[in-house]
Amino acid sequence: MDVVYIGLGSNLAEPAEQLRQAIDALGQLPSSQGLEVSALYSSESLSPGQPPYTNAVARFETDLAPLALLDALQAIENGQGRVRAERWGPRTLDLDVLLFGDRVIDEPRLTVPHYQMHVRAFVLYPLAEVAPADLRLADGRL
Ligand code: ATP
Ligand code: MG
Ligand code: MG
Repeated sequence: MDVVYIGLGSNLAEPAEQLRQAIDALGQLPSSQGLEVSALYSSESLSPGQPPYTNAVARFETDLAPLALLDALQAIENGQGRVRAERWGPRTLDLDVLLFGDRVIDEPRLTVPHYQMHVRAFVLYPLAEVAPADLRLADGRL
């Protein structure tokens, strides 16, 4: 099994409730076990004029293939009313694959490690709660 880290974010429709619902859904993913979740963190949006965000990071082990996991995450997003209008627009739920074991993935639908995780405080603070102290990005950026 691979250890995966998922970044969760929401800034619409009661963000904390969106994250709780998403965490429930992550706990029911097939071929996966050992879900651990950070506290929920609030921060101002990086995009001016948007409501503040609530974020968290989840860690679990999975036998799913990376694209099968992405499919499952997007199904959860869609099930919670995610509408893709503008890039980085406000959203009910964002689920990003941060790390997938020590794999480096560069495919049209999936870039892992997530391209900006190492510069986003709303990823790094919750990640630090659920990751081992010696976690390193596969390409050495962390
Ligand atoms: P950002 O990627 O800057 O956090 P975002 O999460 O709002 O922005 P989305 O609209 O959720 O971006 O996703 C856009 C596309 O990114 C998705 O269709 C997905 O195929 C692709 N993608 C590439 N790498 C990843 C990843 N590591 N996790 C989730 N989606 C990814
Ligand atoms: Mg994102
Ligand atoms: Mg996303």
